[in-house]
Amino acid sequence: MTVAGEARILDGKATAREIRREVAEGCRQLLEQTGVVPGLTVVLVGEDPASSIYVRNKEKASTKAGMSSRVVRLPATASEAEILSTVDGLNRDESVHGILVQLPLPSGVDAQRVIETLSPDKDVDGFHPVNAGRLLIGLPGFVPCTPAGIIELLRRNDIPMKGRRAVIIGRSNIVGKPMAILLLREHATVTVCHSRTPDLATVAREADLLIAAVGKLALVTGEFIKQGAAVVDVGIHTVTDEPTVERLFGDDPDRLRSLRDKGQTLAGDVHPMEGRSRAGWLTPVPGGVGPLTIAMLLQNTLRAAQRSAGIDSNDR
Ligand code: NAP
Repeated sequence: MTVAGEARILDGKATAREIRREVAEGCRQLLEQTGVVPGLTVVLVGEDPASSIYVRNKEKASTKAGMSSRVVRLPATASEAEILSTVDGLNRDESVHGILVQLPLPSGVDAQRVIETLSPDKDVDGFHPVNAGRLLIGLPGFVPCTPAGIIELLRRNDIPMKGRRAVIIGRSNIVGKPMAILLLREHATVTVCHSRTPDLATVAREADLLIAAVGKLALVTGEFIKQGAAVVDVGIHTVTDEPTVERLFGDDPDRLRSLRDKGQTLAGDVHPMEGRSRAGWLTPVPGGVGPLTIAMLLQNTLRAAQRSAGIDSNDR
């Protein structure tokens, strides 16, 4: 338990850097032992600006780790059949170890069908039903990157999970549900909340470990947080107006400067000032969960390449 006003920062950037260094070393060893260069291919359909930025970041990070990185760009008008045929080609390409289809896909394309066309062995996002099922029953497979990164963050910062009360707000297939399974695997006692949960703040306040993956700006206020709890903020929101920046960050000069210079700053699902004054540990936004998601994508891609080369990669 810590004193009010003293939440320690759970530094996702630093943990992500550590994981990326390990992945780079793994790539170096794989190349030395087998001549194989892990290959990640991202399929980007259309020109959604946020998706283009995410894809560029993934491309840069994988190249830096020593992987071969490729982006297959399809126009927003691409038909579902074209996308499926692109994925099918990548499934059969031996130089491609990991495939990621950047979501969201244009309306009219059945994203689930595209995901189910991916080879589960190359599904480095961990979204294919085979990987989701393997996670559920405790078999090795690819785990979705965001929740996998959160577990690494907690582990590497010695945040206890075993026997602790964990509450997750959000039950999406990419964050909330896999997060619940991973925390169960760590022997936490897990509660999952969602939009129909009554008395959300009361339930959340029981948590030693609170994971906010709700997609609502600063929904998690001080009354949701048990004094001294570890709080992980998954949400990402762009804030562009001064009154909201002041409500969330007070007179924090960095945030006001960011608003002035870039016209925006980022915030999460947790109210930052109230979170800091009640939590024992808190992930910042930016610099918390975001960098871990990319680091775990690289780790999954390395693992896919190791597996295809017949090397035991300590599968989870
Ligand atoms: P999502 O698919 O929209 O799911 C949101 C979940 O929150 C749903 O389960 C929903 O409940 C629940 N919810 C919504 N409003 C609620 C309320 N008022 N009270 C209680 N529960 C409520 O979102 P997601 O994909 O999991 O993402 C969540 C957030 O994390 C978003 O801000 C997203 O941008 C961010 N994110 C960040 C990263 C990263 O790398 N940092 C990665 C993934 C996502 P129902 O199921 O009942 O509708």
